[in-house]
Amino acid sequence: MLFHATLDANHPGGLRVGGDGVTKTLIISKSIRTIASLMAAVLMAGTLVDGVDAADGGKPAKELFGAMSLPSDTAPTPVGFYAKGCLSGGVAIPTDGPTWQAMRLSRNRRWGTPQLISLVERLSRDAAQKDGWPGLLLGDFSQPRGGPMSSGHASHQVGLDADIWLTPMPDHTMSDAERENLSATSMLKKNAFLTVDDKLWSPARAKLLLRAASYPEVERIFVNPAIKKKLCDTWTGDRTNLGKIRPIYGHDYHFHVRIKCPQGASGCKPQASVPAGDGCDKSLAWWFTNEPWAPPKKDPNAKPPAKPRPVMLSDLPKACSAVLQATSVSERDATFRGDGGSTPPALARSPEPASPASAFAPPSSIPVPSTKPAVN
Ligand SMILES: [Zn+2]
Repeated sequence: MLFHATLDANHPGGLRVGGDGVTKTLIISKSIRTIASLMAAVLMAGTLVDGVDAADGGKPAKELFGAMSLPSDTAPTPVGFYAKGCLSGGVAIPTDGPTWQAMRLSRNRRWGTPQLISLVERLSRDAAQKDGWPGLLLGDFSQPRGGPMSSGHASHQVGLDADIWLTPMPDHTMSDAERENLSATSMLKKNAFLTVDDKLWSPARAKLLLRAASYPEVERIFVNPAIKKKLCDTWTGDRTNLGKIRPIYGHDYHFHVRIKCPQGASGCKPQASVPAGDGCDKSLAWWFTNEPWAPPKKDPNAKPPAKPRPVMLSDLPKACSAVLQATSVSERDATFRGDGGSTPPALARSPEPASPASAFAPPSSIPVPSTKPAVN
């Protein structure tokens, strides 16, 4: 690290004095102490901005972000990539709306960018009004300051991902305990390979998924391959957005909505667009072969794999350090004030104006996430 190196380099040269030694040594050692304390101050200030090891106490990033119960008092924006970043100025979706209820409140993962919260509210309203879906049960979004989580998700780090149950909202407001204990229902047959259970599946679920895919802000949606196949086999409506619905491991109890980097969010790293077409092709057929499910082939001569190193704060974009260090906003002030998505989004505190769209330039190398099974 730069500052350590500079500090160390100062010591040996600085102490060397010639001639009448004592006084000079005293003065120099005093000034060295001053320099050293100055350097220490700079070092501390540096950690606030740079996200270097001194600030994180050696703890993995998931512990640091998992310990944050409130969002940062900074402008709302995603920082970094879906699976490697954090959330500045997170806002919470209210636990209840006219057409949604948030589940597992103890997890405190109702946080996202204003764009994500607004989109979910709009989907819940449109699905209720146009598709006969009574309301959404909301699973995990992001932590208050995003970042890696101690359990459950590789992505969901920047406030642009939301899990939504494939179970419809019940007709009453659930208690906190019900929200903790109600089980989501898998859409798959228990004793068959990768097959949707037609007793559980319904055209209303297909409509909900296609509705979600229809919004231009939605980047992609993850579902189980069996659900994607069901849509490919049965959807007779417009297939323009079917390609946004992507097969992935899991996702048989819920679907995962991912929105694009908002315009002007210069620190947000976009994902490569979904390929053209409806996705009911070879890429789907692959999931119905043995390959994705076979255990990895073992090389008898291979060394045992090294334990993967946990993601540290210094592995994330530098701005995540400032997000982590920033003062908190109360939950009340940071809760999104919409009305089910029927009016443009408003915030209790106003976000900083977004930079002009022209300032948004995608990086030249766009990362392609691995197919296995990092994105959930
Ligand atoms: Zn998810």
